[in-house]
Amino acid sequence: MAHFYFKGDELYCEDVPVREIVEKFGTPVYIYSKAQLVENFTILKTLFPDFKIFYALKANSNPSILKILSELGAGADTVSAGEIFIALASGFKPEVISFAGVGKYAEEIKFAIEKEILALNIESEQEIFIVNEIAKSLGKKANVLIRINPDIDAQTHPYISTGIKTSKFGIDPDEAIDIFKKSLTLSNVNLFGIHTHIGSQIVDVEPFVETANFLVMFIEKLEKIGVKITHIDFGGGLGVKYKNVITHNELPFEEDDDKEINLKLFAEQISPLLKKTGCEIILEPGRFIIANAGILVGKVLYTKKSKVKNFVVADIAMTELIRPVLYGAYHQVVPVEIKTNEIEIADIVGPVCETSDFIARDRKILKLSPGDLIAVMTAGAYGFVASSNYNSRLRPAEVLIEGKNYYLIRKRETFDDLLSKTTLAKT
Ligand SMILES: *Cc1c(COP(=O)(O)O)cnc(C)c1O
Repeated sequence: MAHFYFKGDELYCEDVPVREIVEKFGTPVYIYSKAQLVENFTILKTLFPDFKIFYALKANSNPSILKILSELGAGADTVSAGEIFIALASGFKPEVISFAGVGKYAEEIKFAIEKEILALNIESEQEIFIVNEIAKSLGKKANVLIRINPDIDAQTHPYISTGIKTSKFGIDPDEAIDIFKKSLTLSNVNLFGIHTHIGSQIVDVEPFVETANFLVMFIEKLEKIGVKITHIDFGGGLGVKYKNVITHNELPFEEDDDKEINLKLFAEQISPLLKKTGCEIILEPGRFIIANAGILVGKVLYTKKSKVKNFVVADIAMTELIRPVLYGAYHQVVPVEIKTNEIEIADIVGPVCETSDFIARDRKILKLSPGDLIAVMTAGAYGFVASSNYNSRLRPAEVLIEGKNYYLIRKRETFDDLLSKTTLAKT
């Protein structure tokens, strides 16, 4: 994570001390590095020059971030009409927007067809008939892909594994063949390809190779029944590193060091398989593009000890970053200024009234004191987007850094925001 680093004992994002951002905008605050974002996208473009990269908006949909990516030539992978709306508003053209999701509402389907996006990724037989009906009522033809569930174990956390039989996502391959046949009788859909997305935070290349092989065989089956497709949407899921992502002499080394996807190997093994099909290939990474381009910064409020544990109580909670609570995700947490080499084991917790409200558990950290600033690393993906107002907390600010310049790209919420959508019943 070269664009977040310690200069002496102080944490910087690009050319700006993180402390300076906090002085200006307070905590909690998400801070993003434009250089890291651009670098991540460029790595993908370089390794996959012939593939289209559709950024998965659900990882982080701040319009300033989306604008940078659309200007770099990314497309947008969306999972709701709201995301299509934000993508269009942020500069993505309809022809580079795809729309997946098991539970698309009729209104969302209508919106997607009216906007003439590249593809709706169909996730059930019923859905394709509904899409056909809605397209007919609009006097249009809907472009669709079928999302296939290849029954491949992505070897990731069960909650983010999406390509196994027991997962709600996609369609069984045999049934998909059947749908391809039936689609020939549907006058208002143009079924032109297939989609798979087997999960998230996948660090091994093997499940992807299996999926690519599966798709090649599936396409051969389609050819046998006279169906020729032109597009493969290969999904996202490229895993990133969460441990030991930033170093300083005093920082404890994090045990069970984790790995990230070997992209070079991924490209070497996957690209030839997929290219052989002659199809246009789309990749839909979210996390890989934005995760290590963002951090969440908070302030230590109190430190206390129980008989068995040390607690660091900070102003960052599950409301700002739910990943640790939702699937036991690990994020490196470091002081914004290194003031000591004294190490302790502590839980870093937030103010939310839930025992499960934590950022890190039983973590070896540099000893912290009230007033210290802490940075949660690799928080750019699935961070702000999953924030909430639980406990009537205010959603945090977001700041984008470019060199020595910075921009407030989302204001911190105010008390007024907590009431803005409510009306008092006259009871
Ligand atoms: C979430 C999602 C992605 C992105 O996953 P990452 O792990 O962030 O790369 C891609 N495609 C679909 C359909 C998704 O639901």
